[in-house]
Amino acid sequence: MSRKYNFYAGPATLPLPVLEQIQSEFLDYKGMGMSLVETSHRSPEYDEVHNKAVSLVKELLGIGDEFSVMMLQGGATMQFSMVPMNLLNAGNSCDFTMTGAWAKKACADAKKIGNVNVVFDGSDANYMTLPEPDALQVDPNAVYLHVTSNETIGGIQWHKWPESGNVPLVADMSSDMMSRPLPMDRFGVIYAGAQKNLGPSGMALVVMRNDLLEKCNDNLTAYMSYKTHAPKNSLYNTPPVFSIWAFGLVMEWVKNNGGLTGMAALNEKKAAYLYDAMETSGGFYNCPVPGPHRSLMNVVWRLPTEELEKMFIAEAKAAGMVGLKGHRSVGGCRASIYNAMPEHGCQALADLMNTFAAKHG
Ligand code: PMP
Repeated sequence: MSRKYNFYAGPATLPLPVLEQIQSEFLDYKGMGMSLVETSHRSPEYDEVHNKAVSLVKELLGIGDEFSVMMLQGGATMQFSMVPMNLLNAGNSCDFTMTGAWAKKACADAKKIGNVNVVFDGSDANYMTLPEPDALQVDPNAVYLHVTSNETIGGIQWHKWPESGNVPLVADMSSDMMSRPLPMDRFGVIYAGAQKNLGPSGMALVVMRNDLLEKCNDNLTAYMSYKTHAPKNSLYNTPPVFSIWAFGLVMEWVKNNGGLTGMAALNEKKAAYLYDAMETSGGFYNCPVPGPHRSLMNVVWRLPTEELEKMFIAEAKAAGMVGLKGHRSVGGCRASIYNAMPEHGCQALADLMNTFAAKHG
């Protein structure tokens, strides 16, 4: 089999050694005579897998017992509800930054649950810009300030975290979790759907500071309450065992490849191939996002006409590069180049961009 270069936004490419390990261990997990996905989630074999995933998250993020790590179902979308259900109440409010399609969804759900103040709205600039870190008027009494660290559709990413004083950041990191080191003292909650940088779909990672956990609503139904999951180490009910197994293996791969610092260096290098191809194309390729906010994870660009975009995507496909069509809501091209996209995948795409521009520019 020749593996394609897979630029899909999610589910997305996974590290080949992880897929190979799953393949080799799938039918007979460690001599059990059965697969891991057939065994009890209370078995010692699964327990080891589960706890290893949690401890790798803590090790990679450099955090200790001041945080709880949860692996939950329902994707990042359920966190759009769970965060406000747990942290907002009739007497308080949160602040939100509206930076694109995903922030809008998170904000719409939070507004159904509690009081939300929008402290940045990028709609006037078509969600192509982010505020300077000190530009936000954050309410010092807000329970949290919500940010979407990387807008998967728009292709913009916070490279400097907003200053919010004592107000903790709550971040949807679905499309850039574990792609760079994080100042963990700034975050109260981080959540991410797994299927981009973390593993297959089927789980969301939630990392929550324990002082916020203590303040969570006590009157929620069991699954919706972080106070159910955190003390039970995400084993209150049956966890998504396959997703967690694969997630743990991906975290091990991240650790063995330089951890978050290693990922960040590689991700910068990879994205530079594509942005450089745009810059040197004499205006043939146009990135709508201004330089300082360009995402290292989801690189978006336009060609002079939609017809040329279709031709480019077809040529890429013929050359073994798939998933380059921009999101249906915005069009154009998008390359999702998460941690697991190898450097040579970005080189190959940049080479194609250069030859295509030389031919049609
Ligand atoms: N937030 C962001 C930034 C996303 O990119 C996505 C999925 N593309 C989501 C949230 C929703 O994630 P899920 O499908 O896991 O609910």
